[in-house]
Amino acid sequence: MERDCIFCLIAGHRAPAAILYEDDRCVVFRDSSPQAPVHLLVVPRRHVASLNEALDGDAALLGHLVAVAGRAARDQGVGGTGYRVVINTNREAGQTVGHLHLHVLGGRLFGWPPG
Ligand code: AMP
Repeated sequence: MERDCIFCLIAGHRAPAAILYEDDRCVVFRDSSPQAPVHLLVVPRRHVASLNEALDGDAALLGHLVAVAGRAARDQGVGGTGYRVVINTNREAGQTVGHLHLHVLGGRLFGWPPG
């Protein structure tokens, strides 16, 4: 738990968020500035600053986060039409919150390559 980390605060129910799912390892909530009709964030409870800080020993946690992301997308009804799971890491990828998170985006057509 990092005291000033907004995602740690949300995971600890100390800051508001539209939480859709939570378990002992992660929390899923709606992005407050959605970039698609479905835009969720899957966040580990443990403070991991970015994918750079995830270790080999975190493989099970990372797998769990991806599995939860897929289930959340299906629950939101975009499993069939399609969705994107994105982890922005550091400045050039546009990471703005220093706590690992998976974006789950769906409900519209996405371009490739991403901008
Ligand atoms: P990134 O730019 O990849 O680090 O993504 C951070 C995401 O967190 C952005 O899409 C923000 O809109 C979202 N975000 C920031 N603060 C909050 C918050 N308090 N509740 C929900 N989403 C947030």
